[in-house]
Amino acid sequence: MDRFKLEIIWIGCFILLLFLPPGKAQSIEMEESIFGLNSVRSLGGNHSVKKEVALTFDDVPSPFTPQVLKILNNYDISATFFLVGYQVEKSPEIARQIVAAGHEIGNHSFSHRWSSDNSAEALAEDIKRAEDAIYRATGQIPLYFRPPGGMVNDKVKKACGETGYSILLWWVDSRDWLLNEEEILETVNKEVKDGAIILFHNLATTVKVLPQVIEDLKTKGYEFVTVSQLLRY
Ligand SMILES: [Zn+2]
Repeated sequence: MDRFKLEIIWIGCFILLLFLPPGKAQSIEMEESIFGLNSVRSLGGNHSVKKEVALTFDDVPSPFTPQVLKILNNYDISATFFLVGYQVEKSPEIARQIVAAGHEIGNHSFSHRWSSDNSAEALAEDIKRAEDAIYRATGQIPLYFRPPGGMVNDKVKKACGETGYSILLWWVDSRDWLLNEEEILETVNKEVKDGAIILFHNLATTVKVLPQVIEDLKTKGYEFVTVSQLLRY
C-alpha cells in the first residue's frame, strides 16, 4: 500500500472518531479504576436522565423497615435498600419482605464497622460475608456496594474490585440521622436534581418525613426508580 493511501486511512479513522457518539461512561458521573480483573465504578447518579430519582435506604433491615415498605407500597414506588449483613442475620424475614415487594437490594457490608485502618483483604472479607448473609436470606446477590459512612479510598476500591462490586454513592444526602423533619425536607427539595440518588436510612424520622418527601418530589414531576433503572444497567 502506498503512503498516500495510508494517510487517507489514518485521516478517515480520525474523522470517524470525532463523530462517534459519546459512550455511556461519559453520560454518567463516574470514576473508574481497574483492580485485578474487575473495573470498579463509583456512581452517585445519572446526568443523562430527566425527571427521575432513586430513593435509597441504608442500614437495613431495621425495626422501621416494615413502615418504610408500607409507605412505598401506598405510593406504588420502587426503591433500593442497602442491607447490612449482621442486621440481615437478625431479621431475615424483613430482608425477604423487601425483595418480595419488588425493591432492589444492595450490599452495605457485614459489620458496618469500617475504618481507614482496615486492610483491603479484611474489607473484601466483610463484603463477601454480607453477600453470603444476603444470599442466604433472599436468594439474591446485589449489584452495588455502598461503603459504610461513604468511605472511599484505594483499599475500599481494591476490596470492591476483588468482590466484583461497583461503589454506589449519592448526590443528595437527606441527613435523616441528624436533622429534623423540616430540615430534611428543605435539604432534599433544595438539592434534588434530575438523575439523583438520594440517601436515607430506616429511622423513626425517616418514617415521619418520607410521605412528604415523596409528595414534594411528585409535585416537582419526579418519578421514582431503583438504582439499576436509574443507571440503565
Ligand atoms: Zn450505613
